[in-house]
Amino acid sequence: MITTGIGDIKSNPSQVAKIAKQLRTLPKPKAIFVGHSHYDHVLDVAELFRQMQWTDVPIIGSPTTRNILAGYHQGLESKVELAQVDDEWHAISPDLRYKAFIADHAPHLKGVMLYSGAVKQPLTDAPTKANQFKCGPVYAYLFELSSNQGKKTIYFTGAATNAPIGFPDKSVQSVDLAILCVPGWHLVRGYPINFVKRLKAPYIMAAHYDDFFEKKGRREVIFAGLQGFIDEVLRGANYPSFKEVLIPAVGTRVNL
Ligand SMILES: [Zn+2]
Repeated sequence: MITTGIGDIKSNPSQVAKIAKQLRTLPKPKAIFVGHSHYDHVLDVAELFRQMQWTDVPIIGSPTTRNILAGYHQGLESKVELAQVDDEWHAISPDLRYKAFIADHAPHLKGVMLYSGAVKQPLTDAPTKANQFKCGPVYAYLFELSSNQGKKTIYFTGAATNAPIGFPDKSVQSVDLAILCVPGWHLVRGYPINFVKRLKAPYIMAAHYDDFFEKKGRREVIFAGLQGFIDEVLRGANYPSFKEVLIPAVGTRVNL
């Protein structure tokens, strides 16, 4: 972790290839959504697009996301569509639309948020340091997926955020699944409990809790406090439609 903080970092093509292999068993994504631009969210985007040869998959993100991706010289900046934050639904395809909400990002340690700020100009080279992946604006997303079996809504936040920042607009009364970032939950206010109460999701998925610094498989990221997070979720989930907290391993397929 210390080497990641101060040394050079770059995407590992063979690690990305393992993910790419799994992704090839799934339909091509309609879009890639980026909640914020720290390295653990953006570092592998260029390599993944290269390996998957996604030429027509848009990336929904912030100006910072776009400016970081420009450094890879793969034309990715032209695929970035800036997230529309206006409480309206935005269609990606006939069966997928989204809303984006301004959220914020928990500190990494008490009072300290690493790599804050924005990347205001397109990078001219691929970033090689963690501190070049500046956070930029932070978005929570709400997705609506339609099929002949009906519609499902999925709320997602990629960082723990102070409630009510990141809450959906009032027209959203509940969602079917809430995917909530675990690390930092104890460093922000009213998270995850007020999100759980607000979103009233039958299913709540813990996310971002695995330790990608370790190669030994599923292991909790340092200081994540997964059990405490689950306890808080369960404290908030006292509504009749609540069913389960899901804690899937990376790469697991979850059917809604
Ligand atoms: Zn982050």
